[in-house]
Amino acid sequence: MMATDRDYYEILGVSREASLEEIKKAYKRLARKYHPDMNKDNKKEAEKKFKELSEAYEVLMDPEKRARYDRFGKEGVQFEGGRFTWKDFTHQSDIEDIFADFFGNFGESSFFSQIFGTGRRTTGRKRTYYPRGENLRVRLNLTLKEVAEGTTKKIKVRLLEKCDHCGGKGGETTTCPTCNGRGEFQSVQSGLFGQFVSVSTCPTCRGTGEIIKNACQYCHGEGRIKKAKQLSVHIPAGVDTGNFITLQAEGNVGRRGGMRGDIIIEISIKEDSRFRREGNNLKVQIPISYKTAIKGGKVTVPTLDGKVKLTIPPHTKSGRIFALRGKGMGSLYGRSKGDILIEVHIWTPDKVSRKGHQLLEELDKELGPPPKIK
Ligand SMILES: [Zn+2]
Ligand SMILES: [Zn+2]
Repeated sequence: MMATDRDYYEILGVSREASLEEIKKAYKRLARKYHPDMNKDNKKEAEKKFKELSEAYEVLMDPEKRARYDRFGKEGVQFEGGRFTWKDFTHQSDIEDIFADFFGNFGESSFFSQIFGTGRRTTGRKRTYYPRGENLRVRLNLTLKEVAEGTTKKIKVRLLEKCDHCGGKGGETTTCPTCNGRGEFQSVQSGLFGQFVSVSTCPTCRGTGEIIKNACQYCHGEGRIKKAKQLSVHIPAGVDTGNFITLQAEGNVGRRGGMRGDIIIEISIKEDSRFRREGNNLKVQIPISYKTAIKGGKVTVPTLDGKVKLTIPPHTKSGRIFALRGKGMGSLYGRSKGDILIEVHIWTPDKVSRKGHQLLEELDKELGPPPKIK
């Protein structure tokens, strides 16, 4: 059996309703367990497990991919080249977070440098252990029309960017006196079987080897300041209120060189009094006159691209539904667009004149009574 044939939820040991937080937790736990560098005796198997976990994580953390997976299974999730490879993995920063305590950065892990390349390896021992910047949540209001086609929106955010005055360092630095710039801290402990040396990240400089001598006056030693930024966000067709789009590593930078958090865009769709959305279809109710229902005629109906004329055939019953094919919402799953469904209703006036009553009496006699229900 191929590793990737197992259910993603099962792989991570979470329920189908699991929140992103729960999925993250599960991944964190299992990723530590199956990390190949920690399973030296069983590296091949651990590598397979770790990749399988990461594939499940990649899909379930992305609301779009997760929705497709829930509906269509693995068929619905397409990776470039057909099968998940490490190139498809977009959560490297999470892995860095998870393993920061172990490897500092994944330059320290032979496995990670192998899969993500050595480009991210940090030089020497001076690494930063400052935590990742905060995620930013942005609510985006969209119209039905924008969501029907998919669109690109420009959004303005205020977020923490690297301070230019100190280059993100937080100020003038000097060699850390605790570790003498090595970034790590050795302590010799005596045990039953003699002495041993334990090496840990220097707590004073958090592994950077430097401490701040004079804090930058612009960022007060934080290494980051608030700035306005404009971003382009691609909105796929078919999203709905409550969906999220995550812009990986576009959020706040971390303190003193910590990595960026994400921007999480929360989709909200403005009410459109004309349409009721049902999946990818849009429902509209249209009143038609009694005469049009019986003799046929044309009525004006709304679409997302303006009004169009709809032909009502003779002898149309109240409640009949006409479909304008492909005029509805685009689909998240890349399939054809939905329809506009027009439900016609015979209009009943609130006021009828004396003459109207007379004519109705005559018409009623002419048409006869409606069929009886047995
Ligand atoms: Zn600064
Ligand atoms: Zn230090």
